[in-house]
Amino acid sequence: MKKTRDIKYIFVLGGVMSGLGKGIAASSIGYLLKQAGVKVTILKLDPYLNIDPGTMNPYQHGEVFVLDDGSETDLDLGHYERFIDVDMTKNNNATSGQIYSTVLDRERKGEYLGETVQVIPHITDEIKNRIKALNSPRKKYDVVICEVGGTVGDIESLPFMEAIRQLSLEVGYHNHMIVHVTLLPFVKASGELKSKPTQHSVMKLREIGLAPDMILCRSEHPIEQSVRDKIALFCNVRPDHVIEGRDVPSIYEVPLAMHEQNAGQLINERLKIEKTPRLNDLKRFIHHYKNPQHEITIAMCGKYTELIDSYKSVMESFVHAGVENNARVNVKWVQTEKIKGPGAAHSAFSDVQGILLLPGFGFRGGEGKILASKYARENRVPFLGICLGLQCAVIDFARNVCGLDGANSTEFDKKTRYPVIDLMESQRAIKIKGGTMRLGAYDCDLQVGTKTFAAYRRKKISERHRHRYEVNNRYRKKLEDNGLVFSGVNKDLGVVEAIEIKDHPWFVAGQFHPELKSRVNRAHPLFREFIRASIKDLK
Ligand code: GLN
Repeated sequence: MKKTRDIKYIFVLGGVMSGLGKGIAASSIGYLLKQAGVKVTILKLDPYLNIDPGTMNPYQHGEVFVLDDGSETDLDLGHYERFIDVDMTKNNNATSGQIYSTVLDRERKGEYLGETVQVIPHITDEIKNRIKALNSPRKKYDVVICEVGGTVGDIESLPFMEAIRQLSLEVGYHNHMIVHVTLLPFVKASGELKSKPTQHSVMKLREIGLAPDMILCRSEHPIEQSVRDKIALFCNVRPDHVIEGRDVPSIYEVPLAMHEQNAGQLINERLKIEKTPRLNDLKRFIHHYKNPQHEITIAMCGKYTELIDSYKSVMESFVHAGVENNARVNVKWVQTEKIKGPGAAHSAFSDVQGILLLPGFGFRGGEGKILASKYARENRVPFLGICLGLQCAVIDFARNVCGLDGANSTEFDKKTRYPVIDLMESQRAIKIKGGTMRLGAYDCDLQVGTKTFAAYRRKKISERHRHRYEVNNRYRKKLEDNGLVFSGVNKDLGVVEAIEIKDHPWFVAGQFHPELKSRVNRAHPLFREFIRASIKDLK
């Protein structure tokens, strides 16, 4: 008997089009299982050929989600971590690029000597290995949820579908399940939800030898029984296995909506899991989310403000921190490129209670970010700077408090007189772009008595990084003498990790990315305190 037999697999596939929230669906199923006491993890398989999304711009792929181990992964891993509160590793995300490169390396080493190396079985075997690797060398999870990026029918996802077909057969009926996420478009003229695209995507699945066990239908409207019956008939599933995935105000409501329709129970029946989820915490969270006492607006200052997906984790961190502070957090997007002087800064920020300076790369919008930071400092507006946000805050402080006229980051101006932000020593010789930044979790020591320390209530923290530049140690004394507080440092590397300004209600910035560690059940301390300070500002 195969060792994998008692491990259960749930494959989450998508039809009709991408962007339907497969990641949320996978996370929600994960949440229901986790709350039932099942050991669960989630794996994302991405059919594109990049080794990881680290080299793509946010328009292509949204935010890059960095894990503790330094891997740059798909933003869906952010959802997985936020929902099921498990720290993921590089094993939780595999791309076609990684899979092909593993197989091709092996071919060069001569490990397939004599054989023709082919998509089936070599690529498909490697895909199966990646799925199984989460439970190897020892079994850690009872259920592995496996989401495949893209849409059924894409040429590049065919090897993944074939691997899933083979694996399903290997593990047997009660050890696997296929959840197909589709869209029911609403045709206004006839006032109808249309099931044809779903039928077609299921046909595509069946051509490849897969059949859905549950269909999660995204729709803007309630799905009537007659529509469920029709989908069931044409797509060969039971009507109660057609689940409505209606738009809900908060993504954290999705597990509850699925639970109400018995989805979790049906999954458990199929996989022979006899446990029920505890959902009171989530219900309480949603109650607070929907009934806030305060309402504040935070300015989100960045480059890709028209593309919410590029700052997904920050947006979610606001939701978590808002709930813990009984507040609804509205966002005002501010494209820093447009902030060219104090007047523009005033009109952008005079109606907000907090300013968040987003991470980013490159010169575009840089001066506007420095002005945003200056505005927050001078007008005592609560401020949180993330990575590039910290760097811009230091540049403002150097220029306008320390009198270092023209101070800059060498990322913005290679020839600046005062390079207060400069390339890290370890980065100077690096030419290759993929996976070479300072990435992943690093320890940081906090200075007792600072606002940063008060937020964490701990001396030692660990946060995730993704950058090449840092505060130039040559200017540390000058900055400190003028009142900038280095509230967090990494002693081993001798680098500044967090700063704050003393005589200010709340002005904190991190060289790291706090948004990557905020969870639905545990808002990140810096976001929690930033929102708290912004509410005070309102009063
Ligand atoms: N561009 C900056 C650097 O590389 C900041 C990066 C970021 O904000 N993630 O250091």
